[in-house]
Amino acid sequence: MLKVENVTKYYGNFKAVDNLSFEVKDGEIFGLLGVNGAGKTTTFRMIMRLIDDYEGTITLDNKPIDYTVTNKIGFLTEERSLLTKLTVKEQILFYGHLKDMKEEEILKKLDYWLDRFEVKEYKDKKIKELSKGNQQKIQFISAIINDPKLLILDEPFSGLDPINIEEFKEVILEFKKKGSTIIFSSHRMDHVEMFCEKLVILLRGKPVIEGYISDIKKQYRKKNIIVIGDIDIKDAKKIDGVVNIEKNANEYIIKIEDESKIQNVFKYISKCKNVTKFVVEEPSLNEIFIAKVGEAYEK
Ligand code: ATP
Repeated sequence: MLKVENVTKYYGNFKAVDNLSFEVKDGEIFGLLGVNGAGKTTTFRMIMRLIDDYEGTITLDNKPIDYTVTNKIGFLTEERSLLTKLTVKEQILFYGHLKDMKEEEILKKLDYWLDRFEVKEYKDKKIKELSKGNQQKIQFISAIINDPKLLILDEPFSGLDPINIEEFKEVILEFKKKGSTIIFSSHRMDHVEMFCEKLVILLRGKPVIEGYISDIKKQYRKKNIIVIGDIDIKDAKKIDGVVNIEKNANEYIIKIEDESKIQNVFKYISKCKNVTKFVVEEPSLNEIFIAKVGEAYEK
């Protein structure tokens, strides 16, 4: 289990991370989210001990993270750090040796992953000759070559096409199944909703939303009712409990204060013509994020 407790980091007088706490259990995928400059990379760098002048404590399985455990960690950095003049094989051997792995083991795993990511033919090619997406696959392989117990992924999906996102996602879920602790950052809420159960959203280094996504959605209370039919937006906006109404191509999204207001909307919609859809949905994480970050900005 990864435990981050009351961590604060200053760069000079500037507080980049402000009293941050969270824990990620074995087999859990944790999302570290936030707008640009929120403090995500700084947090990763503190976990990796690339920054160690911070207040608070960070432990992995109740032990401080030091050289004795770094071999069990895989880190995909945001500023991609491939040595582009090396071949793929040389690069992965370099990372594998840093993790104290034997050459034979590194090469066996490398063949497996190159095959899995369908880039076998690039093994002896220089990294600079590879496309951006393929370079990212090699970077990802370098992060997982040691079968990490703790896998840290800073923006793993940036620049990837949807097919490759699926491939990465599958592999990340396999590590979760094997009991690895996984923590990743993203700006994209849909990526987070796709496979992570727990998260913290940072704003100026401070958590504005945290916990299990299911709980966050419950606590948010607001619901969306999706309707297809002939409704009069002006009238519908007057219904008690309706906060707002948006219109997509052919659907109305009626936003209500909470569950108790569903009946009011239902009563109105049942009198409308050509109604073919009435579905109550939880708001997306993106919607909650925008609302919460907006509120926090106003404070
Ligand atoms: P992004 O999504 O843009 O990568 P981030 O959430 O990863 O952002 P950080 O890189 O952790 O954010 O930066 C947090 C804050 O700390 C920013 O305001 C940044 O300008 C500042 N910062 C980061 N590194 C340094 C540094 N070495 N010296 C001074 N300030 C820094």
